[in-house]
Amino acid sequence: MVQSPYSMEDLTTAVCWACGGKISPEDNYCRFCAKGQGKYIPWYYKHWGIIALTVMAMGPFSLIFVWKSPLLSRRAKWAYTAAILAATWYLVLTIYNWWLAFSAFLCPMMNSGGGTFGNLIQ
Ligand SMILES: [Zn+2]
Repeated sequence: MVQSPYSMEDLTTAVCWACGGKISPEDNYCRFCAKGQGKYIPWYYKHWGIIALTVMAMGPFSLIFVWKSPLLSRRAKWAYTAAILAATWYLVLTIYNWWLAFSAFLCPMMNSGGGTFGNLIQ
């Protein structure tokens, strides 16, 4: 009898993507670390979840999820990393420029001791 690579063993056990523990394929959650499996993988490990987190909440800190995600290929992880770092750098520069413009606007006002807007424009 020829042993198929897909033996009974493989059909009855699965490996948790997060901790490597042996679980059964029908388990929705790992019995060791309680992480969701398959379609129960948490939303923040999915593409749209990572994008939403980056844009709306975490910024560069969402890289933690990028690198822990079982759903992203190594290439996708690098692509996300590059995109998030570039966006962060752009944002920092923008804020820095705003700050420069803001302090350039603010300093004359502080120094002149209540100068008018007419003074500022000149
Ligand atoms: Zn696990």
